[in-house]
Parts: sequence; structure tokens; C-alpha cells
Amino acid sequence: MDGRERLRAYLEQRRELGESEFVLDGMSIDEALSAIDKLRPATAAKSSQASRPQQATRPLEARRAPRVAPPAVQRDPVPVAPARAADRVPEVHAESLHVSEERAQFRAGEDAMKTETQGLVVGNANGTLFEQNPFHSVRSINSLATLIEECTRCPLYKTAKHAVPGTGDQSAELMCVGEAPGANEDETGQPFVGQAGGLLTKILAAIDLTRDQVFITNVLKHRPPGNRNPAPNEVEACSPYLVRQIQMIKPKVILALGTFAAQTLLETKTPIGKLRGAVHRYYGIPLIVTYHPAALLRNPAWKRPTWEDVKLARHVLDSAKS
Ligand code: SF4
Repeated sequence: MDGRERLRAYLEQRRELGESEFVLDGMSIDEALSAIDKLRPATAAKSSQASRPQQATRPLEARRAPRVAPPAVQRDPVPVAPARAADRVPEVHAESLHVSEERAQFRAGEDAMKTETQGLVVGNANGTLFEQNPFHSVRSINSLATLIEECTRCPLYKTAKHAVPGTGDQSAELMCVGEAPGANEDETGQPFVGQAGGLLTKILAAIDLTRDQVFITNVLKHRPPGNRNPAPNEVEACSPYLVRQIQMIKPKVILALGTFAAQTLLETKTPIGKLRGAVHRYYGIPLIVTYHPAALLRNPAWKRPTWEDVKLARHVLDSAKS
């Protein structure tokens, strides 16, 4: 694949995710500029080369795509534009979060987020979803975990080593929901362990939460073989467990980690880039969407939007207390 194709594939991927600007990675700046020049008529490219100063000293901003407002997906949107908060976004490194610095900067920018953009609404606070749940009579998270460990509702139990029901505070105010257990989780029976789990721990610490203070789980409770995408029948079979967990824990905020969890809970195919930044409602419970920590490890450019998302979650949590 030549430079132009790589640049196009990269930009299309970012656009699919709902982003309107990008930071170059996986390709040198010279490669990208060369690819762009190839798109121009030869004379224009020549003139551009002649007039271009030292490439290494050109500001990054000059190579950014023009800002294009993404299509709105919210119903009854309320403008928020927390520009001041965005300007203060601290460095949320995939490898190492500077937690104390982030806390300080978070406090400094807290007042910039006065209102939230309202997102999608799934069900309503008095909906019947919970009453239709086949596990409605199960009265504790531990009892539900036992059922999950013995579950044969879909074929995934046959290939997985351990069930991963979830862990944390059974009356947590924040509930983190990911996609499905991976290899490390399958080995240990615990959600979000390994490198991505460590990053989630740091992300939570940045908003003054420990893993013990939240409840962490996935849509699927057994690992799909080879980490393949969950199949619709598996999601259908397993979802009642998650619904019952939400019902019993009664979190004040749900943080959906990654495309799959977000789209499953919000019953939509809208790309994650367009679901971020709003407060959705899942049967009355505020739901905020952010990137999966494993995706953040692969795409450090998403550290800033992830920070904005967890700040929003913290803000909604704090608002619920006051
Ligand atoms: S993935 Fe869910 S539905 Fe499938 S066997 Fe495991 S607990 Fe049961």
C-alpha cells in the first residue's frame, strides 16, 4: 500500500469514527505530504515544493484537516462547547497517566462544564425491561455470578476457561461496561486485567475513583474464541445478566467502554465518535460513551477525548449527589 492509500485509509477510518480532525500516526510527515502532493497537478506540486519552508519546522496545525462539524446524533441537543475545559486537557498517556496532575487540572476546569449535551434515550425510568428479565428473582450480585458461572445459554461457555461475571462495589455509583473478556480475563475470571485493565485503573484514578469503588463488567461474560466479535445470538443470550446487574447495582452513571458496549446498550449502529460527548439515558440512568482502554493503547491520539469523557462522567456523578 503506497503512502496515498495509507493516508486515505487512515482518514476514512477517522471519519468513520466521527472525528473531524486528526493527528498523524503510522506515517511520517514527509510521507503524508508527499502523498498529498501527488494528488495535485504536477505544476502546483512543484510550486508548493518550491515555496515550502523547512518541513520539519512547519507547525502541526497547518497540516490538519479543516474542521467539519460531525453530524449531530443527539435528540434535543443542548449546546455546551466546553472549549475552556478542552484547552486544559492534561496528558493522559496510554503508558503512564500523570494522575495527580490530572486531578489538579480537572479541579481547575471543573466549572467549565456547566451543562451536558443530551444524547440517545433507551427506555425510560419506569420501563418494563427489568421486569421482563429472566433473572428478575435473583436477589444478589453474588447469586447472579453463580448462575453466570454455570450458564449454558450460548456456546461460549464451551471454549472459555472461566466465566467473568464482574467485580467491584455492589452499590457502586459508576458502572463500567466493556465488550467481553479477553485472554487475561479468561485466565483469571476477573474483568479488565492486563495492560488495558491497568490503564482503566489509571483512568478511574484520574477522576478520584478506585476499582473497588466502581463495578466493572462486560456485555458478554465468557470469552469469544480468539477474541472474535460477539455474535448477535450470544449478546441476546447474555444481555439479561448485564441488565440484572444494572438493576441491582443502580449506578448513577454507566460508562460504556468501546464501540460494542456503547452500541449494544444504546441499541444503535452509530459510530462511537458520534456517541461520545453526550449524556445518553439507559432506562433513566445517565450513560456516557468513551473508547475502550485497549483501543486507547493502540491509538494514543484518543487520550484527549477519553479524558474529556471521564471528566463528563465525573461531572454527572457529582451533579447526581448535589
Ligand atoms: S457468554 Fe453469557 S450467555 Fe453465553 S454462556 Fe456465558 S454467561 Fe451464558
